[in-house]
Amino acid sequence: MEDADGSASSSSSRDLDAQSPYDRLLALDTTSSDSNRNLDSVSAIYLAMTTSSKLECVDERSQDSLITSVCNMEDEEEDEELDEFDPYLFIKNLPNLSSVVPTFRPVLLPKQTRSCPPISLVLDLDETLVHSTLEPCDEVDFTFPVHFNEEEHMVYVRCRPHLKEFMERVSRLFEIIIFTASQSIYAEQLLNVLDPKRKLFRHRVYRDSCVFFDGNYLKDLSVLGRDLSRVIIVDNSPQAFGFQVENGVPIESWFNDPSDKELLNLLPFLESLIGAEDVRPMIAKKFNLKEKIDAAVASPEYPAEAGDPFER
Ligand SMILES: [Mg+2]
Repeated sequence: MEDADGSASSSSSRDLDAQSPYDRLLALDTTSSDSNRNLDSVSAIYLAMTTSSKLECVDERSQDSLITSVCNMEDEEEDEELDEFDPYLFIKNLPNLSSVVPTFRPVLLPKQTRSCPPISLVLDLDETLVHSTLEPCDEVDFTFPVHFNEEEHMVYVRCRPHLKEFMERVSRLFEIIIFTASQSIYAEQLLNVLDPKRKLFRHRVYRDSCVFFDGNYLKDLSVLGRDLSRVIIVDNSPQAFGFQVENGVPIESWFNDPSDKELLNLLPFLESLIGAEDVRPMIAKKFNLKEKIDAAVASPEYPAEAGDPFER
């Protein structure tokens, strides 16, 4: 299953690769057969991401054309091609961060106040905390309308089991920062429902602050302006934190399993990081992601685009 937040894999829908990202997003605003066919089975967010390997930083100017993509969530069908995407192989082939982002970038967030917990917990949204879809469905926790393409669309949202308890616990222990590859027009409304009094999430960071690389929206934690020795990111798409793997806590993607306990299961480890001078060695010891990345190799069916990404 693909992520709704757009921070996921890049292995399918190559038929649209000839288009620029901007052209593709515009195409999604139309009723062309291509876009309709793909929207039947794949998130338009995903389609919007599966662009050429051209490197770019997503900026504010493309927001209008990005609206459609965020509003077309994926359906529940598995896509075999997507399953072949190996986030650790993707990370292995990432270039250095310094070669893909501008030298000077403004820091996004204000400094931490004295009352703020010293460790920042960065949380992904879609398939980590909630699952959203445009498909009408029962057993949703809430709905809200999103306006795009001159139409109003209803977003149906399910919350991951134990979300409330998880958020109440971690919001007392950490500075909570939502960092989503979804667009603000959708995510902000969703977060307003989850946290109407703005007591849980101290900061909200959206797609326009991601780095778009090789079809993926990546979350460069250095834009947050925090000491990375005290930053944890939890994301169901490991490639999203590919530039700072040492800060990354992977979590299983969640769509609708009512028996899921991953958020609760994560609490003891997160709580063990309280007071740490540097969370990164503890995360490394727990998840061994460096080893997974080193061990990642391309399968014959899905050859790695190894080497210098600028030469692809
Ligand atoms: Mg996600």
